[in-house]
Amino acid sequence: MQTYPNQLFVDGSFRPSASGKTTPLINPATEQVFVEVAAAEVRDVDAAVESAQRAWEGGWRDLAPGKREALLHAVARKLREHQEELAQLEMLHIGKPIADARDEAGLGARVFEYYAGAVTKFGGQTLPVARGGLDFTWRQPMGVVAAIVPWNFPLAIGCWKAAPALAAGNCVILKPASLSPLTALKLGQLAYEAGLPPGVLQVLPGSGSVIGDALVTHPRIRKVSFTGSTQIGRRIMELASRDLKRVSLELGGKSPNIVFADADWQRAADSSPMGVFANTGQDCCARSRVFVERGIFEAFVERFVAVTRKLVVGDPTKAETQLGPMVSEGQRAGVEEFLEDARRQGSRFAWGGGRPHDRGFYLEPTVLLDVGKDHRCWTEEIFGPVVAITPFDDEMAMIREVNASPYGLSGSVWTNNLSRAIRVSRAVESGVLSVNSHSSVHVEAPFGGFKQSGLGRDLGMAAMEGYTELKNVYIAEI
Ligand code: NAP
Ligand code: MG
Repeated sequence: MQTYPNQLFVDGSFRPSASGKTTPLINPATEQVFVEVAAAEVRDVDAAVESAQRAWEGGWRDLAPGKREALLHAVARKLREHQEELAQLEMLHIGKPIADARDEAGLGARVFEYYAGAVTKFGGQTLPVARGGLDFTWRQPMGVVAAIVPWNFPLAIGCWKAAPALAAGNCVILKPASLSPLTALKLGQLAYEAGLPPGVLQVLPGSGSVIGDALVTHPRIRKVSFTGSTQIGRRIMELASRDLKRVSLELGGKSPNIVFADADWQRAADSSPMGVFANTGQDCCARSRVFVERGIFEAFVERFVAVTRKLVVGDPTKAETQLGPMVSEGQRAGVEEFLEDARRQGSRFAWGGGRPHDRGFYLEPTVLLDVGKDHRCWTEEIFGPVVAITPFDDEMAMIREVNASPYGLSGSVWTNNLSRAIRVSRAVESGVLSVNSHSSVHVEAPFGGFKQSGLGRDLGMAAMEGYTELKNVYIAEI
């Protein structure tokens, strides 16, 4: 019988929660419970913070950079050795197609490699201050950092947060989403086996409503790095404001996909379905609003639908599957409410809208036309496989409409006109934008949002800045 990492990973070992409570995990492709996982409570948070603080003061804070670099490389090697196991776990608890789950595990390893290298390259400056002497800046670790992550890319986002925080010299307590604790727990175990001292990276599965506040308000936790809903992000920021705790927040999005008539629009139409439907649309960067210049609108929609109907929706264990089930029954029900509203308001379903399989939380990729500009399918994040496509006539008016969204995470622009590419990239209010591509995430580049899509940045060197305090030291010359 298969065994799963299903207990808290605290102070270098697996243990049950203080209460002994567990929560069941359901495989979204089969609707079967396949494991019970320990659910942390507030006492477990206290124990983890104590261990982390001990580890930090006891050596991690002051470890020579070369040693930290070597340890993070060792973690990356472990992740590569266990790539298939991690991919299988990811697939089981969130229904991610196995090919994507393998890519995600590879990305996790790559993130550790990148930040292993950063340890010896990210530092302060010397400054020619007017009064003479020596003035320099130090990038100092903060102490214990809490990373609270969602269920859509559990391993990747866990690594995005843990690796730079560790590289900067912090200890990390990782809280995975209740639906997806397995890969995070495996990461904690593998990092420990790679040589990270006990307490440096710990993993607390458990409900956000039970341990969230304790993580955010614990005086020894100096920073909270969060990815998830705007609603919880707002709550975290409110709680953190009490003692001015550092936060970084990566929240929702309603990202535009803008296609001009001068673009290679056939290529755009071929690629755009997966620009929104990848990960069954459960992606904060999903390009869920498509703006198409009127002259090519009909032809674009026809081709977009033709590509969408060929997408393989089904069993995530099969290598050819492109869309797996949604993560949970509740998540699918929420998306189906959006679709019900769209039906009531007279939107056209150019494709999809139904359940393609009897068992599993599947939903067809759905293409909506004639969605009202004040309809919630147009304004709100749906977080499922649903796209709305609309024509536009005027570039300026279209950009105003794009920027009217309270979100500003990601987006795409398709054009072969260089001046337009520059103009539109500058004008769109979003933290990430791609031209003639749907790629949003590069390990080496900053990732995060404008406006209500968040604060602070993951990835790149920007993430290292976010896990350090900047100190200025002045030494008089006497
Ligand atoms: P969520 O509630 O924001 O969950 C994200 C993480 O926050 C999970 O680990 C969650 O734990 C934790 N959490 C929940 N309540 C908390 C609290 N009071 N304090 C601290 N942490 C807390 O997101 P969700 O409910 O899974 O999804 C809802 C919506 O959020 C989605 O439909 C989507 O719109 C958005 N979302 C965005 C992203 C993104 O990548 N930006 C990712 C996922 C979801 P539990 O799992 O235990 O509740
Ligand atoms: Mg929630």
